[in-house]
Amino acid sequence: MADDPLVRDLTFSNVRGETFTVSPSLYLASLAELGRIGDRIGEAGGSLSQGEALLLLREIYRIVDRVGESVSSHMSCSAGCAACCRMMVAVTRGEGEILRARVEREPEGSRKDRWSAGLLSRTETLLGLKGSADPSRPLATLPDMLATCEAYEKKGFFCPFLGADRLCEIYEDRPLMCRICWTLTAPRDCDPGEGPPLKFRNGVFFRAFDLVILLGKAGFGDDRHRPIPLWLTLE
Ligand code: SF4
Ligand code: SF4
Repeated sequence: MADDPLVRDLTFSNVRGETFTVSPSLYLASLAELGRIGDRIGEAGGSLSQGEALLLLREIYRIVDRVGESVSSHMSCSAGCAACCRMMVAVTRGEGEILRARVEREPEGSRKDRWSAGLLSRTETLLGLKGSADPSRPLATLPDMLATCEAYEKKGFFCPFLGADRLCEIYEDRPLMCRICWTLTAPRDCDPGEGPPLKFRNGVFFRAFDLVILLGKAGFGDDRHRPIPLWLTLE
C-alpha cells in the first residue's frame, strides 16, 4: 500500500512531525464528482445559466471542504488564527456574485456599513498601487493583478469580512481560495515577513480551481479573476 504511487502522492507531513494520508477513496470520489461538473460544462457547450453555474460553484465548495476537513486535525489552522486573512483574495465572477448576494442579504446596520467602507478603502488602495503595465487599465492582466496583490499584502490590511473576534463573518460564502488555504507549517509562517508557509495542496484543489474559472466563463461570460473589493465596488 505504501508503495502505491497514489498513496505516496496523498501522504503529507506537518510541523508537528505527524505523517498522514488523505483517504484515496475520498480523493478519487472527489475527483470523479469534479469530473462530472466538468462534463456538465462540456455538454452545455461551455454556456450555463447563472443559476446553474452558482449551484455548481456551491458543489465545488462542498467537495473541497470535505477533503480539507477530512485531514483538518493535522493542519495548523484553527478558528481565530487569521494571519492569512491579510491576503488579497482574487475570485471569479461567479464567486464575486455569491459574495455580492451575501452582502446584500446582510441587514442594514453597523456591520454592513463596516463591510462597505472596508471594501471601498481596499479598492482605493489597490487602484493606487503601481503594479499595472497600462495605468489606464489597472489590474487588467493576470501579471498586473498578481503584482498588485503582492504589493497590497505587504501593507498588512485584514480582509473587510474579518470580524473583531478574528473570525470570518461570511464563512459559509467564503471563496475557494479561503477554503483551500490549509497550512502544514507553523501559523507564524503566515505572518507578514515570515514563512513562506507550506500549504496542503492536492489534485482535488487544483482541479477545483480550474473549474471555478471555467464556471465564470460558462455562467457569466466572464473569465476574469479580480480581487474581492473590485468586484463588489466597481462592477
Ligand atoms: S492559513 Fe495560516 S494564518 Fe490562516 S488559519 Fe491556517 S495557520 Fe492560521
Ligand atoms: S473571506 Fe473570510 S476567510 Fe477569506 S480572507 Fe476574508 S475573512 Fe478571511
